[in-house]
Amino acid sequence: MWSGGLDSTYVLDDLLRKKKEGKIAEDVIAFSIDHDQVNVLQRRAEKKARKAFIKWASKEYFRFRSETVTIRGGCVNNNGCGQAATWLSLMPYLTRWFNKLDSTKNLVHFAYLRGDDFWHHERDFRDVFYNSMRILGYEYPKSNMQYDLQSRNKWELIAWERRIKRKAPGSIWYCESPTGRLQPCNKCNCCIRHRMAQTEYRLRRRLGIAK
Ligand SMILES: [Zn+2]
Repeated sequence: MWSGGLDSTYVLDDLLRKKKEGKIAEDVIAFSIDHDQVNVLQRRAEKKARKAFIKWASKEYFRFRSETVTIRGGCVNNNGCGQAATWLSLMPYLTRWFNKLDSTKNLVHFAYLRGDDFWHHERDFRDVFYNSMRILGYEYPKSNMQYDLQSRNKWELIAWERRIKRKAPGSIWYCESPTGRLQPCNKCNCCIRHRMAQTEYRLRRRLGIAK
C-alpha cells in the first residue's frame, strides 16, 4: 500500500531493493488509492511524489507495476470522517482488487510505525480485511497483512529520507494539509511529527546512538 508519503515509500523502496538483490521471489506491486476523503492538495502532492519516485526507482531498481484506484463519495461526511473509518471502508475495494492478481496468495504491506493512531484500530482493520474477503466469496485466506514498520520509530526513517531525497528529489511527502504550491504546511500533526523525528535523529547522532 503506497501513498507516496515517507513511511510507505520507505517500505516500497526496501521491497524493490530486496527484489533486485534476489532476497524475495514475489513480484512487487505498488498499490495506491486516490480517495476524496483526503485533502485535495495532499492528493496532488502525493501523486507528484509517487511520479518522481517511480521515475527514479525504475532506473535504480527495475520497472515495477504501480496501480491507483480512484474512490469518490466513499465516505458519509468528508469533513468529519477519521482516517481509520476511511480505511475500513476501503477494504472491500482492496480485497476485490487482490482477487484480480495472478498470484493466489498475496502479502499486503502496510507502513504503520510504532505510535501511529492506526494501532488503536488494528483489530477492526484486520477483522474488516478478512471478513471482506469471506463475504465477497473469495478463497480464504487469499491474502495476508504485513506490518513492516510495526516496531520502527519515525526517527529511524530520517537517515534513509536524507539519502533518498538526494538521489530522488521530490519523491518524499508527509504533510496532510499542504499549501497551494504543494509545500509542507509545517503546522499539521504530520509536519510536526516529521520535524520532531528530524530533531530526535540529530540528537541521537550527537549522542552517538544513531548512524
Ligand atoms: Zn503539514
